[in-house]
Amino acid sequence: MDTKERFQKIRRVLIYVLILNWGVAAAKLFYGWVIRSASMKADGFHSFSDGASNLLGLLGIWIASRPIDRSHPYGHKKFETLTSIIISGLLFIVCLNVVREGVIRFLHPVVPAVSVKSFLVMGVTLAINIGVMIYESRRGKALGSDVLVADALHTRADIFTSSSVIITLIGIKLGYPILDPIATLIIAFFIGHAAVGILKESSRVLSDGVAIRTEEIEKVVLSIRGVKECHKVRSRGRPDDIHIDLHVLVDPDMDVHKAHHLSYAIENKIRRDFQGVTDVVVHMEPLEENKNKRRL
Ligand SMILES: [Zn+2]
Ligand SMILES: [Zn+2]
Ligand SMILES: [Zn+2]
Repeated sequence: MDTKERFQKIRRVLIYVLILNWGVAAAKLFYGWVIRSASMKADGFHSFSDGASNLLGLLGIWIASRPIDRSHPYGHKKFETLTSIIISGLLFIVCLNVVREGVIRFLHPVVPAVSVKSFLVMGVTLAINIGVMIYESRRGKALGSDVLVADALHTRADIFTSSSVIITLIGIKLGYPILDPIATLIIAFFIGHAAVGILKESSRVLSDGVAIRTEEIEKVVLSIRGVKECHKVRSRGRPDDIHIDLHVLVDPDMDVHKAHHLSYAIENKIRRDFQGVTDVVVHMEPLEENKNKRRL
């Protein structure tokens, strides 16, 4: 699968999810308007904003899919990483909201009024959300798309939030209303945890953190015939766009022709052994056996 195809697939998933989100939003807004339910309308506006977050994802993917040009010789893929950071920021807001609502419900316990019809609307939209979440996170993992994975986590957070009404009901029915705030805090913790996970990986990519363990690269490079030593091994980048550079020491009598071939062999071996490597730069040095080892 080439880059263009991958972005097309990610785009398609985002468009499906966008359509579903806005469909759900329309249903909730319309029904909330008909039955004059403020909470149903608020839920509808939330689904509408979920669609807006999908649009943001589409924008990020569109920029990230642009080919290499004069101003971006390394390509635009990191725009996807940047977008996933923004989406995880939105996830933190969702998390804070869950805590806020849990606290409010704890301080002012109210039995949510649930009619058969509103329960049906909630049930159907919840089922759609569960479907979206499973589909999106599967595609996200298969395509290695952090934007899709982040968005799926957001949908999962929304599912927990919508089903918290059910948790409240169960808590009251069982005679333990304390179950509700406890469940809410646990949910908030998991949402926050997921957001931190995205933030960690995305900031590793943007700050050029190590992408492949240096020892593993060294082992592979030293196994190639003609390589005497290697050092200054560096790796960085997105898991699907890893850049590696390293210094390699070779026989000082090796001619340029041979050295050039060797550098190709190193590049190919690294690309074959490590998934996601798109660029390898080899710096060749003569191994001076008898003189003081000067490392340049
Ligand atoms: Zn949401
Ligand atoms: Zn060359
Ligand atoms: Zn060196």
